[in-house]
Amino acid sequence: MIKNISLLGATGSIGRQTIEVAQVLGITISALTAKSNVELLEEQCRRVKPRLAVCMDPGAAESLRVKLADTDIKVSSGMEGLIEAATLPGTEAVVTAVMGMVGLRPTLAAIEEGKHIALANKETLVCAGELVMRAAQVKGVEILPVDSEHSAIFQCLQGCRDRGEVKRLILTASGGPFFGRKREELEAMTVSDALKHPNWSMGAKITVDSATMMNKGLEVIEAMRLYELPLEKISVVIHRESIIHSLVEYCDNAILAQLGEPDMRLPIQYALTWPRRAPGPAKPLDLLGCKALTFAPPDEVNFPCLSLAKEAARTGGTATAILNGANETAVGDFLAGRCGFMDIPRRVEKALRTVKAVQEPTLDDILAADAEARRTAEKA
Ligand code: NAD
Ligand code: MG
Repeated sequence: MIKNISLLGATGSIGRQTIEVAQVLGITISALTAKSNVELLEEQCRRVKPRLAVCMDPGAAESLRVKLADTDIKVSSGMEGLIEAATLPGTEAVVTAVMGMVGLRPTLAAIEEGKHIALANKETLVCAGELVMRAAQVKGVEILPVDSEHSAIFQCLQGCRDRGEVKRLILTASGGPFFGRKREELEAMTVSDALKHPNWSMGAKITVDSATMMNKGLEVIEAMRLYELPLEKISVVIHRESIIHSLVEYCDNAILAQLGEPDMRLPIQYALTWPRRAPGPAKPLDLLGCKALTFAPPDEVNFPCLSLAKEAARTGGTATAILNGANETAVGDFLAGRCGFMDIPRRVEKALRTVKAVQEPTLDDILAADAEARRTAEKA
């Protein structure tokens, strides 16, 4: 079990639950980071007593420094601060729970220092999965999934000695708040409609991604990178109840699944205790009390984001960074009231058609593709 972590994105949905799990398991948290929520970060610092606290926003860092003047917690800011937290001497692992591709550089820096990664920040693997997985292999560090579907698959793969025996991975998807709706209806959906997720309480960006089904598209790419499998070996099934978190089908047609209440504290905990298990705060599942489990195919016509993500996965190279950059920008615009719900797939599609993908990209190629995709999606 991991004993000492840095937590990037401490004030978010995954970050707050990670603190809860770490406290139950007795794991030390040496660094906490946030974008700008000084009040919550101060409260967390007083509770957790890290060595380092980081605000991305320099003004917020300054006010945190004043608030924490009576403690010996060091306060840093910006990308440099995030990297300082990710590479802090003495920590064994970094929990990456920031939202978006901003997590890429700190993740690579942490791997370079030999830290294991408990990865919630899927955008990093979508943009630069090959670079990240290669760096982890070279350094001999583990990339442990926190995303519930990928944790379920990871759990179902324990004991599998030969990845060639895996016929396919089956990712479950709740379908989000707009399951069953048609394109014309989706055009009129508002921010508050999109933020009403049926089963999970998460940050705003991933909740909108769940409503467009882009979240499942990003997760297909995340699974390809984590488990080194081609697109054809990853399928998606709608499972409205979010009790089965994903499945692995083996070559003998056995299907293994992981079940549980929709509760992120379990996958967060498994990433930290793996290969062991420990009693923890996640809710137990009452099989006799739970709803009937249902399955349906995804609707890629009315929810085009899933097929756009598969298209980017097929193109490869920087195409997945283009997909992600355009999506982050479009979702940000939707949340700020600057575009409609169905403008999200339209803008992503425009970026995929306009920005040229580069194969076998370097980090610079990926950062450039991301920047160009963001500019293209903004202008759409
Ligand atoms: P959130 O919006 O609740 O929290 C995001 C955290 O990142 C906050 O601490 C915020 O301060 C920080 N942050 C945001 N923008 C930043 C920036 N530009 N620079 C530095 N820090 C920044 O998000 P969340 O729901 O906790 O999701 C975090 C990550 O985990 C995402 O990649 C998401 O896809 C993934 N994830 C979340 C869930 C979930 O249940 N919430 C499940 C699976 C995967
Ligand atoms: Mg997920």
